[in-house]
Amino acid sequence: MAITRPALAVWKFASCDGCQLQVLSLEEQLLTLAEVVDVAYFLEASSATARGPYDVSLVEGSITTPEDEERIHEIRAASRTLIAIGACATAGGIQALRNFAAVDELAEAVYPHPEQLAVLEESTPVSAHVEVEYELQGCPVDRHQVLEALSALLQGRRPNIPSHSVCVECKRRGLVCVMVAHGEPCLGPVTNAGCGALCPSFHRGCYGCFGPAETTNTGSLVAWLRHEQGLGPAEVVRWLRTYNAGARRFAEESRRHEPSQR
Ligand code: SF4
Ligand code: SF4
Repeated sequence: MAITRPALAVWKFASCDGCQLQVLSLEEQLLTLAEVVDVAYFLEASSATARGPYDVSLVEGSITTPEDEERIHEIRAASRTLIAIGACATAGGIQALRNFAAVDELAEAVYPHPEQLAVLEESTPVSAHVEVEYELQGCPVDRHQVLEALSALLQGRRPNIPSHSVCVECKRRGLVCVMVAHGEPCLGPVTNAGCGALCPSFHRGCYGCFGPAETTNTGSLVAWLRHEQGLGPAEVVRWLRTYNAGARRFAEESRRHEPSQR
C-alpha cells in the first residue's frame, strides 16, 4: 500500500513575499522536507498545484480586503493545521500603519480613483479572522523556526518556539547591553527572540522586528526610553510603529504617546 505524505500548502496575502523566500532559503533542508511532505500548493516555488484538503498551511501576509477575508476562511476550512508566518500574518505588518489613520483619506491622497478600491478599514493578522494553531513572528520569519514547526508537526509534538525576549539571546551570546553600556535606545527587552540578537551584535539597538514578546512590560521600557534616554513622544511612536505597528502591545503603547494624548 502506498504511503501518503502530509500535504503542505503555502499561501500569500498582503505581504512582500519575504517570508516565503525564507522558506525557499531552507535550500537543502527544503529538499529533505520535500521527501517527507507533499508540497501541494506553493506558487512562489511551483505553478503545479493540488487541491486540498491540506495537512499544514503556512500563511504569509495580512488581511486587508474583503476578498482576503473570504479566502482566509476557505483556506482555514481546507487546512488541518494553520501556521501564520511573519509580522504581516501575526500582527498586520508594516501596512498596519494605516490602522492609525483614516483609510479613506489615505486612499484619496494616493489614488486618482479611490472609489475603485475595495479595502478593509484596518490591516489585521490572520488570527483576527480565523483560528490559528501557531504564530511565528518576525519580519521576516526565521526559517529555522519554520523548519522546527514543520518537524514538530511531523513528529507529533509541540514546536519549540521561544517566547522570551531578545535580551535573553544577548546574554546567551555574551553581548554587552547596548542600552546600559552605550546609551542606545533598544526594544530588545520587549521583543520576542528569534533573530539571535542580530542588531545588538552589531552594537545597534533592537527595533522590534520580531514583535512583542509574551510576558514583557512595554510601558516600563518606554518610560525608561523617555526619561533616561531622552526620547520624545514622537520618537517613541516611531520606534513602536514599524513592522509590528499593529501588534496589540506595541499599538496600545504607541497610542499613549500620540499628540492627541499628550
Ligand atoms: S513579515 Fe516582513 S518579510 Fe514577511 S512578508 Fe511581511 S514584510 Fe515581508
Ligand atoms: S530589530 Fe531586534 S528582533 Fe529584529 S533583527 Fe534586530 S535585534 Fe533582532
